[in-house]
Amino acid sequence: VLAPFEVNEELDESGDDIRGSEKPHLAVVGRPNVGKSTLINRLLGADRMVTSSQPGTTRDSVLVPCERGDRKFVLVDTAGIRRRARVNDTIEKFSIVQSLKAIENSGVVILLIDAREGLTEQDLSLIGLIIERGRALTIGVNKWDGIATSHRRQVEAEVDRKLVFAGFARVNYISALHGSGIDSVINAALT
Ligand code: GDP
Ligand code: MG
Repeated sequence: VLAPFEVNEELDESGDDIRGSEKPHLAVVGRPNVGKSTLINRLLGADRMVTSSQPGTTRDSVLVPCERGDRKFVLVDTAGIRRRARVNDTIEKFSIVQSLKAIENSGVVILLIDAREGLTEQDLSLIGLIIERGRALTIGVNKWDGIATSHRRQVEAEVDRKLVFAGFARVNYISALHGSGIDSVINAALT
């Protein structure tokens, strides 16, 4: 059974204390709207992060000091890479920089993919970067709910085919919204 996450309020969330903290960072990365904030809220059992059906809601990384059992770490919700109708280069680059910074500062990374959209070029380059940086990687294929069985088989085949180069990364098919597969993804990330 999954031990609950507890937010450690004793740590100062606002300042450099957390960013410079020696506690391992567990970053959730992925494209906008993939469900990063929803996953973190699920893990925390509270609506702590702002979620939105509009991509690009979170601009900066949000750090939440956590405890689970006797382990202390910092959960990092990232802005992701923006995707808007009118793409502003500066914002786009800034957000990528945020993701890279989060990856750089983390020991472990959970990368989320939107099952409805399949594996995009951005997903693949982000995975490449995480591996290049030598970070432990767990992949969550999110929004698995509400997908027809035939579509599921198609996504699984695509994941198998395109992620051969990341064969050591554990892949979990999850629903951050409903909670299915969440235990597996977090256990994979924390082992
Ligand atoms: P973020 O930009 O990656 O932080 O994405 P959010 O957590 O803000 O979620 C974006 C939208 O996707 C919201 O409307 C969520 O309710 C929805 N969403 C997130 N996870 C799931 C999921 O597992 N299934 C479904 N159906 N929707 C989800
Ligand atoms: Mg978010």
